[in-house]
Amino acid sequence: MTQSVFPWLEESWQQLQQLRARLPHAILFYGPEGIGKTAFVESFAQSLLCESVQADGHACGACASCGWFSQYNHPDYRRVRPEVLDGEDAIDTGDGSESSEDKKSAKASKTPSKEIKIDQIRALSDFMNVSTHRSGMRVVVLYPAEALNTAAANSLLKTLEEPPPQTMFLLVSNRLDRLLPTILSRCRKFALALPSHQAGLAWLQQQNIKDADVWLSEQGGAPLAALHAASGDGREVMDEFLRCLGQPSIDVALKTAERLQKTAVADLVGWLQRWLYDLLAMKSGAAPRYYPRYARELNALLPRLDTVALAGALKAANERRAIADHPLSARLFIEEMLLEYQQLFT
Ligand SMILES: [Zn+2]
Repeated sequence: MTQSVFPWLEESWQQLQQLRARLPHAILFYGPEGIGKTAFVESFAQSLLCESVQADGHACGACASCGWFSQYNHPDYRRVRPEVLDGEDAIDTGDGSESSEDKKSAKASKTPSKEIKIDQIRALSDFMNVSTHRSGMRVVVLYPAEALNTAAANSLLKTLEEPPPQTMFLLVSNRLDRLLPTILSRCRKFALALPSHQAGLAWLQQQNIKDADVWLSEQGGAPLAALHAASGDGREVMDEFLRCLGQPSIDVALKTAERLQKTAVADLVGWLQRWLYDLLAMKSGAAPRYYPRYARELNALLPRLDTVALAGALKAANERRAIADHPLSARLFIEEMLLEYQQLFT
């Protein structure tokens, strides 16, 4: 079976083919989260290793190399990502297998790491020091690049500064602003864009997603994020949280913090961020982008809200997002966040 990419990335795929004639050592693919960047880059990696590339640049899906690739045991391919992503493959690739060493290290630490660590980068040097097995090219896919901790980023930088022969680095990032400028400068950058709302919607409808329009708006137009959200059971929790934001009070804040303390805190912060973005947009006369379903509630809040304070709250929420992965106490974190939120309203 010939491979393909998501329809909204088709044009980018064609542009990418123009790089084939003279491949750089490293390409950094970047764009919003939830649009299929990783799948896109893995398709490209597979096509670079494929023994019978199709005219459109896609891998054949049938050769020995493609077979190994789809089993994640191609000898000339490495995938580097945080432990926490292991086991999430079911959604996009249907495969969760990694080398036994990766499995061991994932088991050894209780909470899977959200960082890409220096050991993972060091492990690449063995891989890069032996000769290639098949096509004469080695490919490393690394994502998300912003997960590299400082030591790992510096180690990777050394490799990128003295690129090993016949080795292609494909980095993926949701957040260019979080990468070391020195890493950025060593990579050829390649942008992947959000699809138009229509294109995203058409695709979601093909996946038989109910209320596709609502999900897509709530995920800022990112189709895979919308698919993921619609497939979870998070809808009720999200609605409870948004209803709470619609009626800010100390009492509601405390009760909500107690009820939602089992919810992933990062999700809650993300929902709050989007809610605040909508309020800010509506303050300047625009329509809500994320939660048009809650236009009435959002509207009712506007007169009680000062624009400067709102901008400050948005900044605070963005900072909160950065520490939301490891709160000491989820309940206290949520409480504090919601109490601060309700103070916005006079
Ligand atoms: Zn092939």
